[in-house]
Parts: sequence; C-alpha cells; structure tokens
Amino acid sequence: MNQVGKINFKKIQRISPSQFFSMKNCAYKSLLAEAMNKKALLPVSANAYYGTVLHKMLELISKGQIRNEDDFNTTFQEQIKLMEEKLIIVGYDFFVPLQKKVKDFIMKKILLKDHLRIVSESPPRVSNTKFHSEKWYESKDKLIGGKIDLVIETEHETEILDFKTGAITQDILDDDGEVNSEVKAEYKEQLKLYAYLYFENTGKFPTQLSLVDLAKQKFTVDFSENECNTIFGEAKSLLNTTNNCIDKGTFTANPTEANCKYCLYRPACSFYLKHIETDNSFNDVSGSVQKVVKFQNGNVSLYLESGDKTYTVSNFPMEKFDELNSSKNKKINVFNLRKESREFFYSAIKTTIVYE
Ligand code: SF4
Repeated sequence: MNQVGKINFKKIQRISPSQFFSMKNCAYKSLLAEAMNKKALLPVSANAYYGTVLHKMLELISKGQIRNEDDFNTTFQEQIKLMEEKLIIVGYDFFVPLQKKVKDFIMKKILLKDHLRIVSESPPRVSNTKFHSEKWYESKDKLIGGKIDLVIETEHETEILDFKTGAITQDILDDDGEVNSEVKAEYKEQLKLYAYLYFENTGKFPTQLSLVDLAKQKFTVDFSENECNTIFGEAKSLLNTTNNCIDKGTFTANPTEANCKYCLYRPACSFYLKHIETDNSFNDVSGSVQKVVKFQNGNVSLYLESGDKTYTVSNFPMEKFDELNSSKNKKINVFNLRKESREFFYSAIKTTIVYE
C-alpha cells in the first residue's frame, strides 16, 4: 500500500509566477510540494498530461524548431511517446494510449497545427523585431523567477505572451447579476509578475501582456506598473511568511473544494484528511477498515468506518483483496473515487489510489 512517509519540510528558495496564485490560496500545498521534491502523490488526468505535450509543442513552434507539417507530425508523435513512457514508469498506464483517453484529442491536435500555419504564413516583421522564446527571467534577489513563453520586442513596444492549452476565461457574475467572461485571476497575476521580472531585467516594463489559447484567440491583460510592483511585493512577502512557518513549526492550510479538488498532495495533508471526516463533498474517503468482501464476479468491496459513518467502496479489482484485507482495523485514505447516488457509497475507478 502507498505510504507518504515522514514529511521533511524544506524552505522554498524561489517561487514562479505560475505558482503564486495557488500558493496564495494554500501555501501549505507549496510546502508539501517542496517537501516531496515536487513529486505528485496522485495522478492528474489524461487531459492534463496531454496539455503538457501540447504546451511543449507550442514552445517548439514558437522557438522555430518545428517549421513545417512533417516536423510537426514527427515531433508530436515523439512527445506523445515520451509522455506515455513516463506515465507507464510511474504506474499510470491506465492513461495510455493518450489518444483513447483524452476527449477531443484530434481536435486539439488540429488546433495546435493551425498555430504552425500562423507562424509560417505570418508576414515577416520589421527587421529589428526580436523574439525571445522560453527565456528565463528572475528577480535580482532570485526569489521570484520563471520562463516566459514568448517575448516580442520592437523598437518601441514589448509584448509578453503566455500560451495556455485550457480555458483562459471564466464566467463571473457582476454586481448587476450579469454573467461576464473574464480572464482568470490567476493568469492576470502570473502575467503581471512576468511584467515585473521583465522590468527588473531590462529596466522597462512591457507595453502589452497577452494570453493565447489553442484556438489562437488572444486575450490582453490590462496592467499598471504599480500593480506589477505590488504583486511582486506580495509574492516575496508570501514566500517569506511561508518559509517562516517551517522555523516556527506552526502550519496552517486552507482546505476548500476549490483548493483541494486538484491538489496532488492530498494524501500528505493532515488538514485535508481531518476535513473530509466531516465534509463528504469530495471524492476521497478516510476511515478504518472494517470489512473487505470478495464477490463471485471477482469484485472487491471495502467497508470503512469513520465516526458514526460507514463508507462502502465497491468495484476494487480482485488483486486488491489481500492488500486491503491485511489493513483491517487500520486507518486508510482512499483517493479518486466515483461517488454513487446513495449517500456514503463510492466506486473505485482506474485512478483510485489507497494510502495508509
Ligand atoms: S489538500 Fe487542500 S488544504 Fe491540503 S495542501 Fe492541498 S490545497 Fe492545501
């Protein structure tokens, strides 16, 4: 059975602009990630792994390393193969082949290929235009740093672009009850931090901050120099207070649905494990093993007790019987379940993982 082991907290040396928003919502997640050497304790989703491949492809297109359709097809196959090999090594072979597990696999590939067309067909820019792709920018004190997808510099203008393979906007209800589509707050803050890092490295702020999605839609993010300075200050102070928790040995976390649902360190988070003892809105359960039953069809069901509740988790494969049965009366935590319509009933799925 999986075990988290002893957690050795380490100070976080540097945070990236893409990490800042999540750290603001729950700094304990960043501390756990650092303690685990960024090794996730749970699988993400086939879509997320495919998103990583798509982002890598966008990076290679913007760097000019993929120039035509042949390059595209060969590199795409290579990147998919590499990702699938990694998934198999970490035991997540249930995501392989990605083509069968990802919704809209082909559609996203076609959209991505269109980016190539845009690059190869776009009229040549004026000769003094400079492109910096995937360039590393960090603050002078090295506390905040990250790679910017693309910086386009002309004599009087600088645009910072960040590519996203998922949705860039989300619906927000305004004061009049109208639904507006707005760029996600985390992306706005990420770009403003990039703007500050660019300023620290070049002495000038960019003139435009943009996000580009797979369908080539561009979203600009309004900003002021003041805002960028403020966010940079906030990020440094957050890093400082977060690291201070290690010295003091007092930790706090913020277990909410929005924060924890996709947190890959849930198995190591005592705050979350305590929280799910009373909040059943998650797809994870925690309790002591009362009974394990193997049915004639080979399916295994697990009965867990937590306080005055009993959880039933069905549909474990036969091979899990001995492992679960040997944990009788022990407390275990089961992650990534499917919730059934009856209260306290769950089913194991391919991505279900059990931790002691
Ligand atoms: S599980 Fe929730 S509370 Fe715990 S570290 Fe992750 S986000 Fe924070």
